[in-house]
Amino acid sequence: MTTTIYFLEHLQFCIHYGLHFLFPGILAWYFYNSQWKKVWIIWASTILVDLDHLLATPMFDPTRCSIGFHPLHSYPAIAIYVVLLFPARTRLVAIGLVMHMLTDYQDCCWNRYIMALQSQLI
Ligand SMILES: [Zn+2]
Repeated sequence: MTTTIYFLEHLQFCIHYGLHFLFPGILAWYFYNSQWKKVWIIWASTILVDLDHLLATPMFDPTRCSIGFHPLHSYPAIAIYVVLLFPARTRLVAIGLVMHMLTDYQDCCWNRYIMALQSQLI
């Protein structure tokens, strides 16, 4: 069981950062042809919203769910990101921000699943 948890934690890490950096690159390449690198940089730059982690104590907690905890990951902030999908001028950044929130949300699901597995060990 501990080997399974060890494997799942590493898979979670790879999926999390793959969705933050690699997946936006694939989407940009597929949908934005010649401008894919510019779009990829914009989407990957949305990682800057994680600067709000600097306000938390402890600053980094791998088991903490960012969604609903940090200010730029709060539900009102996410609502603003969704609204920003509509104006063409803000759409690209908003897509990146919404992808970021979905990525962090799926990470919360991983955390809950792994913690549930760990609690069965006790
Ligand atoms: Zn985040």
